[in-house]
Order: sequence, then structure tokens, then C-alpha cells
Amino acid sequence: MISIDNLTVRYGEFVAVDGLDLEVPAGELFAFLGPNGAGKTTTIKALTGLLRPDEGVLRVAGHDLAERPLAAKAVMGYVPDVAVFYDKLTSLEFMRFIGELFELDPGAVAENTRSLFAKLDLDAYAHDPVETLSHGTRQRLAIASALVHDPQVFVIDEPMVGLDPLHARAVKDEIKARADAGVTVFMSTHLLNIAEELADRIGIIDRGRLVALGTMDELRAGEQAGALEEIFLRLFEEDPGAGAGASALETGGGRG
Ligand code: ATP
Repeated sequence: MISIDNLTVRYGEFVAVDGLDLEVPAGELFAFLGPNGAGKTTTIKALTGLLRPDEGVLRVAGHDLAERPLAAKAVMGYVPDVAVFYDKLTSLEFMRFIGELFELDPGAVAENTRSLFAKLDLDAYAHDPVETLSHGTRQRLAIASALVHDPQVFVIDEPMVGLDPLHARAVKDEIKARADAGVTVFMSTHLLNIAEELADRIGIIDRGRLVALGTMDELRAGEQAGALEEIFLRLFEEDPGAGAGASALETGGGRG
């Protein structure tokens, strides 16, 4: 469903993503981890068409991002690390606005909004301007707006930022429910417990290269057995910023 082939992104001379290969099949909940500056957001920006890669081919639901960007974006929902709104619109107006962008039937927008607002505890804020919302409420609205068109692929950069435990639970339940219903989820997070709890498969990126890839069981099966936190820390503790020691976890997909 998501296919990333030799993705390379440079900022000037600096290589932020370095020949990344990754396939995420339909219905998989994939967690993308890595230390600060590893290249997660850059990968997501390329995947969502916000950034043109220097090399590589990205496909979403079979659509090549470079050749058919609108078709690819039409089937994708995206929650960026910092969501952008029209602050003067109310929550409800914002949902309608996003529905119009996707040329959805207003009845379907209303129905999906009702359902999403109930699940994400947004009903009380339906008529409030976005500029008055707290950070966690804005985050839930960003998630609701990214799901209003029932995307086949849901890309989220740090979904839990700013959420209290109750609302984090609601967001986790929604993400899990979407994946269970066949949506492909690509989620970057620093919260290892979230990745461990939710993800079908986990990929760890370091300095633009994939250094580990697998299910929790596969990651545990190597010499780095343990909880994800231990696995992650072992990857980076000896040489901070380098995940090269991950023999049992090596993917072969990035280093060469
Ligand atoms: P974090 O966990 O801190 O959010 P990340 O894994 O999402 O990090 P990216 O934001 O993709 O990392 O950044 C990867 C590297 O690219 C970093 O070294 C960052 O400083 C650099 N970078 C990102 N955006 C730009 C830019 N617009 N211009 C120059 N360098 C950039």
C-alpha cells in the first residue's frame, strides 16, 4: 500500500534520508521510530507529497507520488507534527472546509464528523473557533479532519503529542480501529510504549537509514531481546546517533 524505493532527501549537502527502502502492506499499523533528527519527518513529508525527493520513487495505493500526486493524496489522511488550521473557523466549519477540499458529499461529511467528534471528544468544541482550542483539542481536531474522507492510508507524525491519558486512549482506539478495518497506518512516534502496544511492525531509522525492521517478536528474537525501550536504547547507547550495532535487527535495506 505504501512503497518507498531508494528515497533520498538532501538539504543542501546534508543527506537527511539516505536510500530508504520500505514497504508497508495494506492494513498494517507501522510505527516509525528513531532519535531526534533521524529523518522521520522528512520521510513523512516526502510520503505525503510536501517535499520532492532528490532520488527515489514513492507509491501510495499504487499511485506514484511524482506522477499522480493528486490521486495519491486523495486516498491519504495526514496529521503533521504541527497541524495547520484556519484559526477563525470553528471546529465544525474546519471539518466542512476539509470535506469540500476532498469534494465530499456534505451529508457524508456531516455523518463522519458526528462520528469522529463523538469518538474524539470534540462535540463540546464544535462551535468554538480553532484559535481558542487547547493544544490537545487541536491535535484531536487535526486527527478528525485527516479522517473525514475515510482515507485508505493514514499518516501521523507524533499522534500523542499534547494528549492527556484519557484522550490518548481515544486516539489510540481510533488508530487501532482504522487499522483493523483495513486502513494502512504509518505513524512516527517517540513513545515506545505506543509503538509496542499498537504496531504490527516497527522500523527504526538512524541518520537517514533504516537500522531495524520487524514485528516486536522479531525485534525481540535477536540478541537485543527485551522491551522495545531496551532494544532502542541498546541500538543507540554505545554510540549515540548511530544504530550500526544492530546485528540481529539489521534490515539490509539501508546500509551498504
Ligand atoms: P525529530 O524526532 O527531532 O522530530 P526527525 O527524525 O523527524 O526528528 P527530521 O525532521 O526529518 O528528523 O530531520 C532530519 C535531519 O534533517 C535533521 O538533521 C534536521 O536538522 C535536518 N532538516 C530537517 N529539515 C530541514 C530543512 N528544512 N533544512 C535543513 N535541514 C533540515
